[in-house]
Amino acid sequence: MARASPDAKACIFCDIAAHRIPAYIVYEDAEAVAFLDLFPFTRGHLLVVPKHHVARLTELPPAEYAPYVRALATMCRRVDRLTRDYNVSSNQGAAAGQIVFHLHFHVIPRYGEANPFHTAPRERLSEEDARTLVATLSAP
Ligand code: AMP
Ligand code: ZN
Repeated sequence: MARASPDAKACIFCDIAAHRIPAYIVYEDAEAVAFLDLFPFTRGHLLVVPKHHVARLTELPPAEYAPYVRALATMCRRVDRLTRDYNVSSNQGAAAGQIVFHLHFHVIPRYGEANPFHTAPRERLSEEDARTLVATLSAP
């Protein structure tokens, strides 16, 4: 069920989830809400938000993963009504572009504009760094 936390006092997404401020809500259940992004990258850009105020995915209790992902997948299926191609992404932390510190996934429909992941040139992963990263990220 929805829970508040001390941080939730001044949180715009908590306000939307609690219907304290207006939003273009397109989905709601006991655990999650989805609404149109007010400054969409593309037509139909929406945000899927757990009602429980946490800033990051790693702060969400594991028991709440399933209902949240179910709501996210439901919205992806509905975005199929607009286009079959979309990005599902979440900015975690300021350096990653997070502006609203209440966990959310963006669903950004794509209609053939330039691929957002292909704009910056990328270098091939080096063998040395790959070994270091595998060691860091494989440990439980
Ligand atoms: P992020 O950079 O991942 O934190 O994205 C936050 C998103 O929330 C941005 O795409 C904003 O356009 C969007 N946003 C901020 N305030 C509102 C609001 N009141 N209603 C709908 N979307 C909002
Ligand atoms: Zn919040």
